[in-house]
Amino acid sequence: MIEYISTRGGAERLTSAQGIIQGLASNSGLLVPENFPKLPVRLEDMVEYSYQDVAKLVMGTFFQDFTKEEIAQCVDRAYDSKFEAEDIAPITKVGDDFVMELYHGRTAAFKDMALSILPYLLTTALKKTGDTSKVAILTATSGDTGKAALEGFANVPRTEIFVYYPKEGVSQVQERQMVCQEGANTHVYGIKGNFDEAQRGVKEIFADKTLREELGKSGVRLSSANSINIGRLVPQVAYYVYAYLKLVERGWISLGEKVNVSVPTGNFGNILAGYYAKNLGVPFGKLICASNKNNVLWEFIKTGRYNAKREFYQTNSPSMDILVSSNLERLLYHLYGSERVGELMADLEQNGEFTITSKEMEKLSDFEASFATEEETLETIEKLYRGKDYLLDTHTAIAWRAGVEEKLDIDQGTNVHEHGNRNKKGVKTLVVSTASPYKFSESLCVALGTNQGKNGFEAMKNLHQATGVKIPQGLENLEERPIRHTDVIEPSGMRYSIIEVLKA
Ligand SMILES: *Cc1c(COP(=O)(O)O)cnc(C)c1O
Repeated sequence: MIEYISTRGGAERLTSAQGIIQGLASNSGLLVPENFPKLPVRLEDMVEYSYQDVAKLVMGTFFQDFTKEEIAQCVDRAYDSKFEAEDIAPITKVGDDFVMELYHGRTAAFKDMALSILPYLLTTALKKTGDTSKVAILTATSGDTGKAALEGFANVPRTEIFVYYPKEGVSQVQERQMVCQEGANTHVYGIKGNFDEAQRGVKEIFADKTLREELGKSGVRLSSANSINIGRLVPQVAYYVYAYLKLVERGWISLGEKVNVSVPTGNFGNILAGYYAKNLGVPFGKLICASNKNNVLWEFIKTGRYNAKREFYQTNSPSMDILVSSNLERLLYHLYGSERVGELMADLEQNGEFTITSKEMEKLSDFEASFATEEETLETIEKLYRGKDYLLDTHTAIAWRAGVEEKLDIDQGTNVHEHGNRNKKGVKTLVVSTASPYKFSESLCVALGTNQGKNGFEAMKNLHQATGVKIPQGLENLEERPIRHTDVIEPSGMRYSIIEVLKA
């Protein structure tokens, strides 16, 4: 049975159920499977599987302490008619390449893929392990995680969900989605600071032994819905496997053909799930890490230096405005082992940066990287919409540019940002689409030269008028819903916000 261990070493070994409940390893490392399993069924025998079939198989492969029935129940309850697309993660051919749309869940962004199932995994895990505590879920969000976590956990018995978002760092629509959330167990706070500060605040609360012990005495455990939880990471592996199978089923590629995958990346969770899928045996070529102007990951993959001491930019792809990508630690563990992770993370903490050796860089060869400025992002949206009548959100546009427009450079390993945009032969690319264009309507209006109107809600209507693309249900009539959460606090007040609710 696969057990989960810490990226920073130590003797702790957890079942997946324990890992899902606990969130982080006890020594502040991230939990990783001790080795990579292989899929128990051959890809050619899975070609006609439904999304749910694939999810059950993939999750059963990683969560071996769950029974088949337990996994099946979680999957069937999560991936049902709350998704507006019957096949959950529809895949479209756009030109010679492909887009997988992961935004047909309730909140219109890809976080729904994992956060619709995490509450079921967590409550099943509690039952399995005989744990009777109440779980307080703490989540820092750059915009999309928060709402998806709130939707997932609202009114789930024995849970309280706390969401912290940068007050000035999310779009108006994202903010409204969160502050209108219903459910007596939901708690939402705007933070006077950026995403990294909110995330640091959550990490500090987790590291606070005294607080944890006190809460423990009142029967409360802390856990996380951030992408550091294996209960988020593993469900994401499923859509990569599914995508490959559907490309084969439709005859768009032949079985065994290599496909590059381009992923709009922030906290490195989504692309890491693609790496896990590749390790399960899915024939992916390059995993292309697409960043915005906060291009810390691009620099790392290109040069081996990870430097978080840099200016932080608020961009038109806010869910990728991140300087410390938590899940990268998992990749570092898989490539270099726990001892080296310990060194690199100590460097990051002390100096705000770390550098790997050139020999270590060779092991990064599954990855490529590119980044786009805000202007390039808008240009890409406009060009694809006019040329192919396909509408991308700002995040996905960056991945499209990296994976399709800059394809030849990626194949040849040249520096894409200098040479980009040559010709388009080469390996086909699967672009991972992470949000509905309507989540970022103002930017889309700018890209298409449509009048934005006076706020995000008008922009949504104007975008609809200009393109006729359907507005997702979760975003319709948003401005008419009552606001239920109004707290704005300093990062230093996060600890108290929890005590206040949990001790009440
Ligand atoms: C969260 C998010 C991302 C980044 O995903 P990571 O797993 O953090 O790399 C990209 N695009 C959108 C729209 C998101 O919500």
